[in-house]
Amino acid sequence: MAVIFSKIGIIGGGISGLAAAKQLAQYEPLVLEATDSIGGVWKHCSFRTTKLQTPRCDYEFSDYPWPLRDNTSFPSYTEILDYLNSYATHFDLFKFIKFNSRVIEIRLAADNYSLLSGEPVWEVAVQTSDNIQWYSFEFIVVCMGKYGDVPIIPKYGKNKGPEVFKGKVMHSQEYSKLNEDESCELLKGKKVVVVGYKKSAIDLAVECAQANQGEEEEGEGCCTMVVRTSHWIVPHYSIWGLPFYLFYSTRFSQFLHQRPNQGTLRNLLCLLLSPARKATSKMIESYLLWKLPLIKYGLKPDHPFEEDYASCQMAILPDTFFQEADKGNINFKRASNWWFWEGGVEFEDKTKLEADLVILATGYDGKKKLRDVLPQPFSTFLELPSGIMPLYRGTINPYIPNMAFMGYVESVSNLHTSEIRCKWLARLIGGKFKLPSREKMVEQIKTETEIMKKTTRFYKRTCISTFSINHSDEICEEMGWSSWRKKSWLAEAFSPYNSRDYQQPHTVLN
Ligand SMILES: Cc1cc2nc3c(=O)[nH]c(=O)nc-3n(C[C@H](O)[C@H](O)[C@H](O)COP(=O)(O)OP(=O)(O)OC[C@H]3O[C@@H](n4cnc5c(N)ncnc54)[C@H](O)[C@@H]3O)c2cc1C
Repeated sequence: MAVIFSKIGIIGGGISGLAAAKQLAQYEPLVLEATDSIGGVWKHCSFRTTKLQTPRCDYEFSDYPWPLRDNTSFPSYTEILDYLNSYATHFDLFKFIKFNSRVIEIRLAADNYSLLSGEPVWEVAVQTSDNIQWYSFEFIVVCMGKYGDVPIIPKYGKNKGPEVFKGKVMHSQEYSKLNEDESCELLKGKKVVVVGYKKSAIDLAVECAQANQGEEEEGEGCCTMVVRTSHWIVPHYSIWGLPFYLFYSTRFSQFLHQRPNQGTLRNLLCLLLSPARKATSKMIESYLLWKLPLIKYGLKPDHPFEEDYASCQMAILPDTFFQEADKGNINFKRASNWWFWEGGVEFEDKTKLEADLVILATGYDGKKKLRDVLPQPFSTFLELPSGIMPLYRGTINPYIPNMAFMGYVESVSNLHTSEIRCKWLARLIGGKFKLPSREKMVEQIKTETEIMKKTTRFYKRTCISTFSINHSDEICEEMGWSSWRKKSWLAEAFSPYNSRDYQQPHTVLN
């Protein structure tokens, strides 16, 4: 089969793929998207009620403002898709995208690799509806997403799996494919168990309650959430009347937190300032415990708020969640272990719950998605023994040549992080700067990993939210941009950073 050659291949057309296509447009990249549309999770993992949880102005491309960007409401997933479509149209990105083209295999095609030398380095097999076509590229940007495609399904003991259950079992991924009528039909009048307590599980519980408004018969049409680990949930971005960004998103607030490459003095300072960090976390926790009936429902997390923030696990609560709980439409069961019996699910404390439908909001295995397409030995380099994905600047694996990964090291605004890393990547590919040695990259990854491990027990999620400004600073410095990007010292210290701050290449201050 003939191989089609392009300089740059981008795999995936979610926000990371779009950001990469925009920043690398001068190379006329080929974007291979498995489905028939752009938007990734916003198209394929969203439910009727899914909304953005990040304020609009933080989930925005630096050169393409949201319409009504100061509107404080959270846009629905359809508004996000409209915004992304409008962005792709405005910057003429659709011409680069090949839809219905799933990458099923990647193999190395060269022994020597330097950046854009004119020789193909990777060959990629692409499955379309009627054939498999091979493409070759000098550089690949992998933007296949951490979520979607490969659901995590719990493992059960013998005779404890879905085969013994008389009702229906589905993963939230299957549920997200249903339209409004189908989802209401599915949930109406049913006893539903939702396994999980992250954002998708919370949205699912609310949809279940909505579908059953006015159901009179006792015990019917209600949802029980099976909660293994409770996480902090936040009703809005305001704490005791103060804007949330003050706590974690300004230089001043991030000064309290460890960051990579800090000297001994700063290490000492961080140690001395740790009571202030703990106090911030406690203050937020006290607000959430006052505002939300977390104790009443046994949902008070066992860990500090800071750990959820540092692992990008903070979910924004739909307005009606606890109202529905108060009406009895949403119930909670804390359990680390559960399994099926013929009438529903059973727990380690020997209690049984009847169910007609069990929905697994148990997440996705983004690394398996990568392992399935990357060849050996590269697929073994994707994860450190700690479980963290080793990526320099959240982008380059030091052991995988001519390949970048976008969207795998998370922050509180993944769009902003993906975009700035794509700007960095475009300059790297354009020869504006060089990568440091492999040893230095490994050292940087090690330092970041240590910080994540010290900050949160959920470090495997690979999140940089407590040192995100420092992350952008280092990226700017490597690109030759000024890292301090505000107009005044006051703004620099106390106003939040978002994509807009990284619009223009400011000159380096010497
Ligand atoms: C329900 C939900 C809510 C979220 N809310 C927020 C939020 O409020 N704020 C925030 O910052 N982040 C949020 N996130 C995280 C979100 O994942 C990122 O913000 C971002 O959308 C990820 O974009 P991406 O392009 O990296 O990945 P994705 O959106 O997952 O896109 C990956 C794309 O790659 C394609 N693809 C996958 N495999 C292949 C293949 N083999 N060949 C070709 N194409 C392939 C997929 O079809 C998809 O289009 C949320 C995630 C979910 C699931």
